[in-house]
Amino acid sequence: MDSRRNFLQKISASVLTLSISGNAIASAKDFFNQPYEGPVLRVAIMGLGSYGTRVADAMQACAKAKLVGVISGTPAKIKNWQSKYNIPASNCYNYENFDLIKDNSEIDAVYVITPNALHHDQVIRLAKAGKHVICEKPMALNAKEGQEMIDACKKANVKLLVGYRMHFEPKTLEVIRMRKEGELGKVMFFQGLCGFKIGDPTQWRLNKQLAGGGSLMDIGIYAINGARYMVGEEPVWVTAQEAKTNPEKFKEGVDETIQFQLGFPGGAVASCLSSYNISNLDRFFLTAEKGFAELLPSTGYGPIKGRTNKGELNYTHITHQTVQMEKMAGIILSGETALVPVDGEEGLKDLKIIDGIYLALKTGKKVNLKL
Ligand code: NDP
Repeated sequence: MDSRRNFLQKISASVLTLSISGNAIASAKDFFNQPYEGPVLRVAIMGLGSYGTRVADAMQACAKAKLVGVISGTPAKIKNWQSKYNIPASNCYNYENFDLIKDNSEIDAVYVITPNALHHDQVIRLAKAGKHVICEKPMALNAKEGQEMIDACKKANVKLLVGYRMHFEPKTLEVIRMRKEGELGKVMFFQGLCGFKIGDPTQWRLNKQLAGGGSLMDIGIYAINGARYMVGEEPVWVTAQEAKTNPEKFKEGVDETIQFQLGFPGGAVASCLSSYNISNLDRFFLTAEKGFAELLPSTGYGPIKGRTNKGELNYTHITHQTVQMEKMAGIILSGETALVPVDGEEGLKDLKIIDGIYLALKTGKKVNLKL
């Protein structure tokens, strides 16, 4: 096990210490060099659900980040994770007592992976406990909450990052590089299609109190965020329309399908779709005066596939959450930066657009945005 872990650490350390932006995207042969011997971010995961489990497993291949603790409301899961990941009892908390983490010098950061409506209070409590926080998307339910979280983290002098894993994905970054360096020319149009058919009607994602909305909070946010990093500008207006075919399943305040349009200062427009009732919906398309880029699939767990007017994008797939945690450890420990930011301010911009979309739906009017 140890030798496997060392092996994986070497792999990830060498590939991930390379800049995964621009032309410096690692190829498979780079994986086997340079072992990592620098500082390691010691992370506790809060919320041991489906995504928390995925992150924990992906972190096993990290060199710069290590899972060392848990915060959970389910004692059986804590026990299971303790034995699976070798977590000491002194690093295990529940939702009542986790403020005590302030006295725990073995944990540097907490990754909040709970239902959306809980993020605000949990992040603020963790900031008060002096821990860096990584928070899942959507960072909060609205911009007001997001701003309060940013303020609390600033006041406590801890970092706040949002789990935007696509900001480290090589094919996505290559499209961004091409657009930034003018290879595509002036950007004219972006299309973001994000959706899936959601199952179990009793899950928290379909409960307004816990989810804060419906598909837009969960999957549509990828189109919002993607429109911003693909176009490379902040939108100045939004319009939106909603379609609901099953009001029994998608109750008041839980959106089933939303179309929205964004306008950008340079004249580009975006047309996006967010749905809990349409499958095979995972495509980004950017068209510009000199070329185009397509990511299909664009935001799933991968491998992401992409092509541009110059041909297919060929970069090695690395588990998104492994790359993300490796890069986030660098941001927290060494002040590294991401080509597309993953800080609280970035999360707040998406929340301002979400507020704008819901307002546009309510009023039927175009809403001006100030990001
Ligand atoms: P799950 O329902 O699978 O897990 C959520 C966990 O949160 C639960 O298992 C539970 O863990 C804990 N929890 C605490 N309070 C509650 C409550 N009242 N109701 C339900 N669960 C509670 O959800 P996901 O893991 O899929 O999603 C969690 C977060 O991660 C969401 O914000 C989601 O948007 C985000 N996410 C991000 C993804 C990405 O790709 N970046 C992908 C999937 C999700 P415990 O029993 O340990 O307390």
